[in-house]
Amino acid sequence: MVPLGSAGIDAWVEGRLAAYERAIELTEAEQRLFGEVRRRAISLAGTLIPIVWCHRAFSPWNICRTGGEVRVTDWEEAEPGLPLVDLLYFSLRWSHQARKPRRLEDRLVLLRELFCEPARGDRAFVPVHAAIGEYMKRLEIDRGFFPLALVIMTVEHAIGRFRRAQTLDRRSASGRERHDNDYVNYIGVLAECTDSLFADRSVAATSGAGFPALSDKRGRIDVRQAHADRRMSTSIPILMYHEVTSRPPVAYRKYAITPRTFARQMRWLAFEGYHPISLQDLFDARTDQKRLPTRPVIVTFDDGYRDCVNNAVPILKEHGFTATFFIVAGLVGKTSRWLVKERGFELPLADWSSLRDLRSAGLELGSHGMTHARLTELSSAVCREELLESRQLMEDRLGHEVRHLAYPFGSFDHRVRALAEEVGYRSGCSVRIGLSSRNDDSLALARVPINGDENLPDFTCRIHTARTVAEYFEYTVRGARQHIRRGIGASP
Ligand SMILES: [Zn+2]
Repeated sequence: MVPLGSAGIDAWVEGRLAAYERAIELTEAEQRLFGEVRRRAISLAGTLIPIVWCHRAFSPWNICRTGGEVRVTDWEEAEPGLPLVDLLYFSLRWSHQARKPRRLEDRLVLLRELFCEPARGDRAFVPVHAAIGEYMKRLEIDRGFFPLALVIMTVEHAIGRFRRAQTLDRRSASGRERHDNDYVNYIGVLAECTDSLFADRSVAATSGAGFPALSDKRGRIDVRQAHADRRMSTSIPILMYHEVTSRPPVAYRKYAITPRTFARQMRWLAFEGYHPISLQDLFDARTDQKRLPTRPVIVTFDDGYRDCVNNAVPILKEHGFTATFFIVAGLVGKTSRWLVKERGFELPLADWSSLRDLRSAGLELGSHGMTHARLTELSSAVCREELLESRQLMEDRLGHEVRHLAYPFGSFDHRVRALAEEVGYRSGCSVRIGLSSRNDDSLALARVPINGDENLPDFTCRIHTARTVAEYFEYTVRGARQHIRRGIGASP
């Protein structure tokens, strides 16, 4: 979260409006619209907004559907910017996919119904509005940003189109740019709706029947209060990584991320003011021996792969970040034998000397069992051995306490949990997906998986919700559908 300052207004608002004005002559209505946008931007100065990494191109070309999954491919370098802009563009493209408007007039009607007159809009738009509302609520975006982001999104794409047309056809006669550029026409529609878009700062176009997620709470969100509330119930993402390598085995792509991607994610955490802490810090905070920093996050790596240690540690050091490596104590310096049975290959594991280096670099080491066995399938005696021996072996070889555990394969139940506690573990990480909160069971912590096939917007979405963009979208859409169904069921 950063306050919107004059540099942000110059870069995101003024720069774009000015470029548009240079390219296209504004009608009177459009001049009024731009005037409102400038006034709104100034009135929002100082408001806290999250800066997220933008996709410059959410479009049918990089959105692919396979079965029930929606994925977004990151063709370009993502860059930081105003949030919401991309989501609005995505919503527009999505509605085009759903309704397939052929003629320009139909596209204009669709835009008006989607964003300006939600009450009269298509029922199919309700989930979109719910998703936008939920997104704004979760990211604590002041509702006053809605018309601003909508115009900026449209202006940005109009300029892009205009520049492409210029490159392709230098003769492009003046006057034709309006006709050939849908987005210029969209600006025309938004200009007609200026009054309703900007009418009420707190609700504007984002209220009413069309926007159920926003209509429950009128008035401007008190961002500072929301922050204070969140601090009270700090939820902590415990990130779960496995391998960090530039050459992952094909069958392990999901669990491996490249050093470049990892570096980008750590940069984002640093930029956003996150503070990585260890599991011991979390334990100390829970037992009131230590205070948590603002925006705590825990970075964990399972299995102790050699490449992961070699690639991730320099990046962590660069930011002064701590992290926790869960080690398969009985296989240190050997290979990941359990993967042969599971996936048909094995990877080299770090040796004791590099683990000692990790420790002296301020990183935390935890146990991942002796042999990476599924603990729930073992007898209590063998399970106890896996848990205790791994801890003792690590303590002997590393010369310090080992009190934190990640259950191999996430396999644990009441019995395994009780054994872990009995042999002295203070925390146990599972593979249950979720953010952790202060009152969670320390020996059954949920984590946020970070997968190799996800992009930066997915990463940022996971930090806030534990879900990817597509999963989160699906989740809010499902919620909205139920909302509609309930609504329909209730009507006579
Ligand atoms: Zn593992």
